[in-house]
Amino acid sequence: MTSLLPVLLVAADFTVGSATALSGQKATGYIVVSPGVDAAASIPVIVVNGARPGPVLALVAGSHGTEYASILALQKLAQAADPAELSGTLIIVPLINVPSFAQKVPHLNPVDGKNMNRFYPGRPDGTQTERVSWAIAKQVVEKSDYLIDLHGGDLDENLRRYSYWATTGNETQDAASRAMVLAFGLDHIIMQDFRTPVTPGGAVTITRFAAGLGKPCVTAEAGHAGISDADDVNSLIQGCWNVARHLKMLSGPVSPVEHPLWLSRVSIVTSELDGVFYPLVGPEAYVSQDMEIGYVTDYFGKKVWEATSPIAGVVLYIGAVPSLKKGDTIAHIGEIGK
Ligand SMILES: [Zn+2]
Repeated sequence: MTSLLPVLLVAADFTVGSATALSGQKATGYIVVSPGVDAAASIPVIVVNGARPGPVLALVAGSHGTEYASILALQKLAQAADPAELSGTLIIVPLINVPSFAQKVPHLNPVDGKNMNRFYPGRPDGTQTERVSWAIAKQVVEKSDYLIDLHGGDLDENLRRYSYWATTGNETQDAASRAMVLAFGLDHIIMQDFRTPVTPGGAVTITRFAAGLGKPCVTAEAGHAGISDADDVNSLIQGCWNVARHLKMLSGPVSPVEHPLWLSRVSIVTSELDGVFYPLVGPEAYVSQDMEIGYVTDYFGKKVWEATSPIAGVVLYIGAVPSLKKGDTIAHIGEIGK
């Protein structure tokens, strides 16, 4: 039956979880995940529904709940966002892993011991990390056109700011992601390869999942070791605004990075034994192959192992605390690409 109602020239409401924002408005709410084999979860979400139509940009952080600069950045951005100035919609999720934040547990969700950025698209019947990932996949990633995932150095990581650009093999999508990462504004960019096949049914990061759905995306990292420097927080906020301007969701000029340092491969240095870690270089240091970047002592203070760089490159992050056990990550070294 044909409706006889007049067509109204207004943009539609936009709902994520319990947050419904009318056109030109901002709303807060929760993505509620029911209890299953373990506890229920409530993930805070802010929807900024612009006064004019445009793309949907998802901004997420806090899958690692003690990477504080990234979480504070999205809280501040959500407070500042003005729907009257926006074309399109922002879905902002500042803290995916609430138990990690609340209990100050780095890297993992303490409810089930899983990394909350490794299990996308998740499962509706899995443990909490998998159920939360499923909810974010359905309600945030699938509803968006573009995605930015924010991270930083965790409680035990000393990190310099950088972002990631991933190749999928789809030229149009890759060009869109490349333009986003240059607009974001961090000048160290790690190149990832998403062309390698994922194991059927295999779990991936949120950006790899989003890229698999054809959505251009960027990951960016700033902050370190539990500290939330204003420069780090602001770099992430400005990066998100820069991308929104690049996507014509906001007016104003964009100044893409002109001479980024492309990093083609990241080598991970892990500890071969338990002990006490002493770094000898900081983030952003240029190191040569086999150069000593830190050492480990036993609990009496006697030097028992030298950590060396497997490649020549740039230190992206290095251990920030003395605690160390066998298998822990000591450093990420980026190889300079072209
Ligand atoms: Zn992280």
